[in-house]
Amino acid sequence: SNKAALGPLVGAVDQGTSSTRFLVFNSKTAELLSHHEVEIKQEFPREGWVEQDPKEILHSVYECIEKTCEKLGQLNIDISNIKAIGVSNQRETTVVWDKVTGEPLYNAVVWLDVRTQSTVESLGKRIPRSNNFVKSKTGLPLSTYFSAVKLRWLLDNVSEVQKAVEEKRALFGTIDSWLIWSLTGGVNGGVHHTDVTNASRTMLFNIHSLEWDKQLCEFFGIPMEILPKVRSSSEIYGLMKAGALEGVPISGCLGDQSAALVGQMCFQNGQAKNTYGTGCFLLCNTGRTCVFSDHGLLTTVAYKLGRDKPVYYALEGSVAIAGAVIRWLRDNLGIIKTSEEIEKLAKEVGTSYGCYFVPAFSGLYAPYWEPSARGIICGLTQFTNKRHIAFAALEAVCFQTREILDAMNRDCGIPLSHLQVDGGMTSNKILMQLQADILYIPVVKSLMPETTALGAAMAAGAAEGVGVWSLEPEDLSTVMTEQFEPQINAEESEIRYSTWKKAVMKSMGWVT
Ligand code: ADP
Repeated sequence: SNKAALGPLVGAVDQGTSSTRFLVFNSKTAELLSHHEVEIKQEFPREGWVEQDPKEILHSVYECIEKTCEKLGQLNIDISNIKAIGVSNQRETTVVWDKVTGEPLYNAVVWLDVRTQSTVESLGKRIPRSNNFVKSKTGLPLSTYFSAVKLRWLLDNVSEVQKAVEEKRALFGTIDSWLIWSLTGGVNGGVHHTDVTNASRTMLFNIHSLEWDKQLCEFFGIPMEILPKVRSSSEIYGLMKAGALEGVPISGCLGDQSAALVGQMCFQNGQAKNTYGTGCFLLCNTGRTCVFSDHGLLTTVAYKLGRDKPVYYALEGSVAIAGAVIRWLRDNLGIIKTSEEIEKLAKEVGTSYGCYFVPAFSGLYAPYWEPSARGIICGLTQFTNKRHIAFAALEAVCFQTREILDAMNRDCGIPLSHLQVDGGMTSNKILMQLQADILYIPVVKSLMPETTALGAAMAAGAAEGVGVWSLEPEDLSTVMTEQFEPQINAEESEIRYSTWKKAVMKSMGWVT
């Protein structure tokens, strides 16, 4: 009976920095039916370096697909109802692999990695102040964050990469490209594609013409033949070549933050969402116009849901370290055993007692773009204990969001009346309440937490030739939400916020 009522299903791969997930949704109701998650290792081979194993990432995707299909079987749901698969992924993370052997030529260099700081500085000197063509073409400030400099580093430092490029065997991709190429067959006919949202984070892509940019590729010294073909975010790229879902089309692809924007149904100009994962990313849909920020925000491609559909842009405030600070307290200090424990610890004190924690592990992103910053914990007294530090870590995530929200409000002119939120950290109720207190506007959390995956599934299901998910406004299901109202007064909140800013100033200038 269950089977008959279900209708078409759509799967989504959500490949994040912390974990990989596969989720299956009912395309008629947007209901999440089943999912599986596997945590991904992060390697820190040197100070400032962050790497992941592309093969581990690929295997985790297969494992999540197989396990989810098994779970669906136990629910008596026939997996042949899965009509399409979408991919959403951590952005910017850079992979180069050999198209003949299918092997990665180096670990994936993760977006958080700052090994390219000196490359960034020397390239920066070559950009004329009067004509910042990198910023005007890409919407991005020159930073270790984006793929072009990571790829430059691989070309300069890894002989296997150099050799493969000379022998025309090298392929570059962000995680979406690596996965789509592998899942559609790899050495046996895999397609080398990316979508406009992921391409817009490489720093090689012209966000106006929606093409790889020759001048940028020359500037960064990137051979254009190793770049993937750029497609829209919603069209059939290829079919799954192996596993339980062999033959199912992969027909959606969005960088994770774009996917969350779609999954939160922020299709109108001025609608915004903030996602709390490893980092924190506030995106505001600016419609079909490319808006440039005067306050340290990025301009990025929001989505293009079909080959013949228009492109939408977003302003983005990116914070490098959000959930990562909780993972750090778990793995490096050992004051918690699981990320969830942070809530209990923080609740026991309910205040940081004047302690401020600026987790500038990879420098500071928006709105400062300050590579010289490093993390600090300050305001310590004899009285401070690990609970206060736990609380300060949560508060840091909220203050950083406040800074990007302020920048967004200034750029947009019309202040946001509430903040739509999602991501792994939003299960933390203390964090959500603190966030409302610090922003002094309501924080609205969707009850279905997997909005990133939902966005990828929507894009896949809506693709031409699949057509099982309608994106017409009247067909979109309303998102069920939980709301957190500000409880402390604005004055108190302002005092805390200005002390935070003092702490931020102290974090700057640590490395030169
Ligand atoms: P990503 O998409 O970057 O992989 P997720 O959205 O999966 O991230 O969120 C995982 C992050 O959220 C981790 O860094 C983890 O430490 C943090 N996290 C998970 N649960 C909690 C919690 N209850 N409280 C605070 N942080 C949490």
